[in-house]
Amino acid sequence: RRKRRGRSRPWRRSAASSAGLAHEINNLLQPVISLSDLARGRAGEDRKLHTYLNAIHDSGVKARTIMRDVLQFARVEVAESPPGNLEEAVHSALELAAPSMPASIETRARLEPGLNAVTITATELTQVLLNLIQNARDAMPQGGTLTIGARSLSLRERDASRRQLGEGDYVRLTVADTGTGMDEATRQRVFDPFFTTKPVGTGTGLGLSVVYGIVRNGGGDILVESAPGRGTSFIIDLPTAPTGGPGQTTHGMLVHGEGA
Ligand code: ADP
Ligand code: MG
Repeated sequence: RRKRRGRSRPWRRSAASSAGLAHEINNLLQPVISLSDLARGRAGEDRKLHTYLNAIHDSGVKARTIMRDVLQFARVEVAESPPGNLEEAVHSALELAAPSMPASIETRARLEPGLNAVTITATELTQVLLNLIQNARDAMPQGGTLTIGARSLSLRERDASRRQLGEGDYVRLTVADTGTGMDEATRQRVFDPFFTTKPVGTGTGLGLSVVYGIVRNGGGDILVESAPGRGTSFIIDLPTAPTGGPGQTTHGMLVHGEGA
């Protein structure tokens, strides 16, 4: 049986210490970045020296970007927030992603009305959705369709799941795109921290490892189906909080597009 979430969640400690570590490294990076920049100003006509200093500076900036993601991850984990209501989380994630979402991408949400809240927090749920939405966007530079679905998982599906899911009810959350897809080698590495196929400065390779951590720590499961040139689907099963608790569906509003 899955343990109830309580004070002694071990991953909270690791989140707290990863925040400390990230701060520490951030402080060490600051002089690397600013002093290499200063040194560039004094390098004069020495082309080679400029090349070396540029490399130092760029690495420092890149490392700082990664550390920012790590810090953000740690903050999300430590944050206290109510159980995640699916409709609200989908709504806020889409809202957060909207400014960088091109008009060539059509968004559809198909949410079964009246779903129970999931046991991971609202902040975690929004973070999961946002990371998946951003990846879907990046995978559709020519446009396409982003479909977000949520429905309750049948007992049969739960028993047939790859990983042993606990007792109780689950919802199945799906984020699907019609983008580039990925080959098998890429698919197998997507959850690895720092694995990215995106250009330097745009991807840190942390998004999906964050997603994986949140889902697994929350007693859920995640898998990815993808076909090159066809698109990608992330399928997430999450345990729901007992009915009547906070975070339960409070309204039947549907987000963006056709809905259920
Ligand atoms: P990042 O987005 O910073 O690269 P992620 O951990 O979010 O890091 O994703 C890791 C890699 O997985 C991406 O660089 C990409 O190669 C692949 N990937 C993730 N989501 C998708 C998707 N929806 N379609 C195609 N490839 C994806
Ligand atoms: Mg990403």
